[in-house]
Amino acid sequence: MEAPYEKLEELEPGIARVLAHNPSAFTYYGTQTYLAGIDEVAVIDPGPDDSGHIDAIVEAIGGRPVVAIMCTHTHRDHSPAAAPLAKRTGASIVGCAPLALETVGPRADASFDGDYSPDRILGDGESIRVDGRELTAVATPGHTSNHLCFAWGDALFTGDHVMGWSTTVVVPPDGDMAAYIRSLGKLRKRGDRIYFPAHGPPVKKPEQYVRHLVGHRMQRERQILNLVDRRPRAIPDIVANAYPGLDPRLIAAAGGSVYAHLLDLERRGLVVQNGEQWTGTGSDSRS
Ligand SMILES: [Zn+2]
Repeated sequence: MEAPYEKLEELEPGIARVLAHNPSAFTYYGTQTYLAGIDEVAVIDPGPDDSGHIDAIVEAIGGRPVVAIMCTHTHRDHSPAAAPLAKRTGASIVGCAPLALETVGPRADASFDGDYSPDRILGDGESIRVDGRELTAVATPGHTSNHLCFAWGDALFTGDHVMGWSTTVVVPPDGDMAAYIRSLGKLRKRGDRIYFPAHGPPVKKPEQYVRHLVGHRMQRERQILNLVDRRPRAIPDIVANAYPGLDPRLIAAAGGSVYAHLLDLERRGLVVQNGEQWTGTGSDSRS
């Protein structure tokens, strides 16, 4: 199946997308850059710094004024095109905060774009006006600590917080499982009509989908707790038991997610860490 790379796709009045040519085990067919607006536009998640993709975005803009280039977070498949696109369009970069991560040592993470430098950071609930409508930031930490969704009428651009094809990767130290689940709870209360994720198809029954995602995480947590309640285990052992038949390319990410769950469980007093080994405390008092 040939994906519609570097082509403008109109999804509904005022919402269009361009798919970047960066398919992978983590990005599905690639990053979807959205254009919101008709007479003037905001570009959401400009994507990787790939000249073919940036040319396609400029063509999709078609000479219309660009109010802002917005990033949901600073993973390398989302924000690196912001600066070159700002140069070509004269637009400012507005949205998530930059993230100061160490570039060496245990906190280093090559998946982050350390060059991202916004002109304006939007806090939770802050808006800019695009084509006569508010485009509003909804803080959704978890996948990354700086993650924002953007609300546009009754549609929500969800970045990597909610994806249309797979569960979101939550990897410490920046990824935080408890924050991620809280951020899902925040979306459930909003009542949006549709989600436009950065990867995968639109989510047309958001409330039901988010409920399913929360249930999936609760089930995973229960499974991890059952494994470490029986005997101490290291993360690879937990991954092998909890993710049978996993695509080998995803083992590291699964280990990260398990680690995120364990840190959350540890904070709640349900597991303890001893070197590489994790053990349940047996004090399962979850509410
Ligand atoms: Zn991401």
